[in-house]
Amino acid sequence: MKPWEANIRKVTPYVPGEQPKNADVIKLNTNENPYGPAPAVKRALKEFDAELLRLYPDPASDVLVDALAKRYGLGKDQIFVGVGSDDVLAMAFLTFFNSDRPILFPDISYSFYSVWAELYGIPYERPALDDGFQIRKEDYYKENGGVIFPNPNAPTSLALGLADVEDIIARNRGSVVIVDEAYIDFGGESALGLLSKYENLLVVQTFSKSRSLAGLRIGYAMGNPALIKALNDVKYSFNSYTMNRTSLVLGAAAVKDEAYFQETVGKIKATRERTKERLKALGFVYPEPSANFIFAGRPGTDAKALFEALREKDIYVRYFDAPRIDRYLRITIGTDEQMERLFDFLENYLKH
Ligand code: PMP
Repeated sequence: MKPWEANIRKVTPYVPGEQPKNADVIKLNTNENPYGPAPAVKRALKEFDAELLRLYPDPASDVLVDALAKRYGLGKDQIFVGVGSDDVLAMAFLTFFNSDRPILFPDISYSFYSVWAELYGIPYERPALDDGFQIRKEDYYKENGGVIFPNPNAPTSLALGLADVEDIIARNRGSVVIVDEAYIDFGGESALGLLSKYENLLVVQTFSKSRSLAGLRIGYAMGNPALIKALNDVKYSFNSYTMNRTSLVLGAAAVKDEAYFQETVGKIKATRERTKERLKALGFVYPEPSANFIFAGRPGTDAKALFEALREKDIYVRYFDAPRIDRYLRITIGTDEQMERLFDFLENYLKH
């Protein structure tokens, strides 16, 4: 070992879903939106003055924060924005999970949580979901250094009812509870309405799914002004200019195009309902989906072999080679035409 090697921070990184170079594939593997960004975003991009890029962006991200504050009926001091919700969550871990007690998150949930905990040296425990893949709220009643869970959960797509979400927040007034609502626009009930009641609640959402802007990288957190100030203090201790000028302008345009947002979210939900029926008819089982994906397995069918066979045909879904979930595939909801291609393949594959 070289002497300097001893000083290197060793981490096991998060592994994102594959981004194939070939744009022609049916891409149902990273929960992106199959529809393009809002027309208002495309217009704003065309009108964007590239000359401005010589200047640093507004460190307070005012235009975007303002658009979000109006959309959600919150104060500007209740919103924090970052480079995708991954950035917002990474900042939130660093800011709020700063005790010797373990933070709590489900054994099956977004796999980035344990990566950040390891990176920052935060102790953590992962209470097991029940056999139906649901969160057992009682597991979150014990002493902890913070709580985080996605709602709807990933990769299961299953939502936890708002009463249970509230219960977890109410019983943890001594720690910050982060509800990661990356998929909430597709189903489930948002915890946003609880913000006025609980000062320990932080709700995190993203532009990557329901707003069709995964490529732009915008996420945001909503919470009481003290939490948002704490997040900003850590952000300014890390990198003051996280949000680039283009993201700020296009992001604000996206938020204002409510009609397009409603239309595309509605289309995806309708396709999800049709996909459920088709999968069921083929013998697949799945937890009730509330997100823009379905976590489906078929008793008697090897999920990994199916994943590989689909990939051979340029149909990309996500497979997790991990305990309890290795018999399932996470299938993002695409357009009706894309799902048709998936079903053409499945019907043929399952015949043999
Ligand atoms: N939370 C959950 C539960 C997710 O599935 C994802 C998507 N990988 C994210 C957060 C991060 O998304 P983004 O950084 O694109 O906002």
